Amino acid sequence: MNLFGFLVPGPMEIILGLLCLGSLAAIVVLVVVLSTSRKGRGGAAVNPNLYPCPDCGRFVSRQAPDCPHCGRPLTPQQD
Ligand SMILES: [Zn+2]
Repeated sequence: MNLFGFLVPGPMEIILGLLCLGSLAAIVVLVVVLSTSRKGRGGAAVNPNLYPCPDCGRFVSRQAPDCPHCGRPLTPQQD
């Protein structure tokens, strides 16, 4: 009677286990890559607190009274 017969995995169980772990790791990597690429697109490129200066086209804070780049007086944006 071998108590460890069903606990110690054979070669097939090890291969199947590695395949399961591999596919699981691939899914995790895919999810992480997708979520970070979405964050990257929405974060740095489009800042909700910034809008392009009508004069020089550079991004200016909505609260700025004038453009820090070209000095054009601005009316602070509400939304
Ligand atoms: Zn400007």
